[in-house]
Amino acid sequence: MDTHFMGGERQRIPARHGKAIFLRAGEAVQVINTHGTQVVDCWAYDATNMGDYMCMEATRVWNQRLNPVVGDSFITALRHPILTLVADTSPGVHDTFMAACDARRYELLGCKTPHRNCHDNLHEGMQALGITLPHGNLASFNIFMNIQVQPDGRSLKTLPTVTRPGDYIVLRAEMDCYVAFSACPQDIVSIQGQGDNTPRDAELRVLTDGFPQPPLQGPWVP
Ligand SMILES: [Zn+2]
Repeated sequence: MDTHFMGGERQRIPARHGKAIFLRAGEAVQVINTHGTQVVDCWAYDATNMGDYMCMEATRVWNQRLNPVVGDSFITALRHPILTLVADTSPGVHDTFMAACDARRYELLGCKTPHRNCHDNLHEGMQALGITLPHGNLASFNIFMNIQVQPDGRSLKTLPTVTRPGDYIVLRAEMDCYVAFSACPQDIVSIQGQGDNTPRDAELRVLTDGFPQPPLQGPWVP
């Protein structure tokens, strides 16, 4: 762990469950892939306007990239920067294309009984902070998820993570916001690393000061 990060204690995102936090503008959150195998879905909401949320479609326009690199910001549906990727010790493989898993996804995968899912984890995490979200939001930033664009430029291949134990990213808040995470419960489609596709814990840590401040990219203007 880099010692120049100043922040709170590590908090567990239990396997198959969600956790949400509040960040003030300028604070950051470190998302740690404890075992190196876990996909972590992420959403963010403007704390002063819960109807505005981190939007993957608008973010791809802003950055002119399929997936973010350090210095890229995520923007809301109303196109305000909400989070910026300020550090990434992982191989940099993340995903903004794939909808978060939900109950219906597991029904379609053949589950006969309810399966834990990222959509419900988002709502559970926010409800633990006393917030009931106005709508479902399947468009998540899928941290550490390995979705590979194929050479034809349009086909996607779903692969297990390539992350190492302890790899982390840091997301800085550009406004007061709520940020929710889900340690994805997917154990049918092979996305979690290490071959056994077993959902495992991840961790987060709120950083109040001292994290790197790379120059910001974007927005891209035609
Ligand atoms: Zn999921």
